Amino acid sequence: MLRQFLRKWGRPPIPQIESLPASAPGLGYRVAEVYIFDTCTHRCGYCWLAESGQVLDFKQLEPFRSTEWIANVGGFFNRRTTAKSKWLLQFTGGEPLIAPNLDLLCRYLFEGGNRVAFYTALLVGRNHPGFRFLASQSSPRVDYVMASFHPEAEIDEDRYFEKIHALRDAGHRIFLRYVGHPARLHRLDELAERCAKLNICFYPTTLFSSSFPGAYTEEERDRLRHHFSSLSQFLMLEGGIDTTETKCFAGSKVIGVNLQTGDITPCISVHHPSIGNVFRDELELSRVAISCPEAGINCSCDVHYQQDIVVGFPDRARFEEQKTGFVAPRDLFGEIVRMKQAGTMFYRDSTAGIGNVKNDSRLFYTIEEVRQNYRVNRGLPGPSQVTESFKT
Ligand code: SF4
Ligand code: SF4
Repeated sequence: MLRQFLRKWGRPPIPQIESLPASAPGLGYRVAEVYIFDTCTHRCGYCWLAESGQVLDFKQLEPFRSTEWIANVGGFFNRRTTAKSKWLLQFTGGEPLIAPNLDLLCRYLFEGGNRVAFYTALLVGRNHPGFRFLASQSSPRVDYVMASFHPEAEIDEDRYFEKIHALRDAGHRIFLRYVGHPARLHRLDELAERCAKLNICFYPTTLFSSSFPGAYTEEERDRLRHHFSSLSQFLMLEGGIDTTETKCFAGSKVIGVNLQTGDITPCISVHHPSIGNVFRDELELSRVAISCPEAGINCSCDVHYQQDIVVGFPDRARFEEQKTGFVAPRDLFGEIVRMKQAGTMFYRDSTAGIGNVKNDSRLFYTIEEVRQNYRVNRGLPGPSQVTESFKT
């Protein structure tokens, strides 16, 4: 069936695709940070998608139901794949595992020689097609699984860890990502021990909101740092690097893709310039390092350091090590101190506004609250007009 699908939708390759810049990481994979939709099975209190009710917008899944649309997306990347330059598509959202036809899209990309990675919260049943697909795959086609362990998963954490076991046993390289909300820091030691026993990477991260990371106490920062094993984690706790004077390989080694609109930007953190569009079949890659198009924002996405995108702040070697299993914590705070002494600017204060979350006091919302948020943000009066459920 897949071969018929490929035959039907196959188009000639784009001839002008070039190999990566000479300084690119050795593997020859260009990274596409693919934002697929807002829709999500979770209602995390520290997420703007839940705070705004956007997680309930199940209409955003609709395009994925069309095999022609899937073929357009897969074909866009496959036609721009060569022996020397392939793609690693990092699917994020929302919850990527609930995308209809996810298996078809990924298998098509694999046929082209490309790889994928998932940023998932794993809050789908083990029989859900998305989870079944993931469990049927493994490294290296799926480069890694960034599995967030969110507060709602803690309610039934045995089930969550059953899925982690299943994926690990299938041969996946797993990160257990744990958002470091102050109310969750008491679990860091215990979860680190559990990950060490499972031999998966324990990956605590910084809470981003309109007041964090600026609002962390020094003691809270120390507790987080005590479990970090990569420079990216330390940089995020500082809020990321101020981009006023940075040079980076966004638009060449990495691109940001919004699958709702097809728009492509140099990275997922910036909104302009447009360097292409999936549905118009256009992409203009840069050949050199660029200045940040939104100079002055904080470069606070760990992917950019993990993939050695930001000149002068490489972290790929540590990321590759983290993929292989549990890594003992490393004290890299001295490097941050040295960077500051050398003039590197980081997140300055709580008014810098990283992330859109205004109320970061909650760990998660109830379904009713999210429905209410959805109505308020759309100016909808009265009782819920949202008919979708969390069964999708
Ligand atoms: S899992 Fe939580 S943080 Fe991630 S998109 Fe869903 S609601 Fe937001
Ligand atoms: S400096 Fe960071 S945020 Fe700015 S374009 Fe480069 S990777 Fe993106």
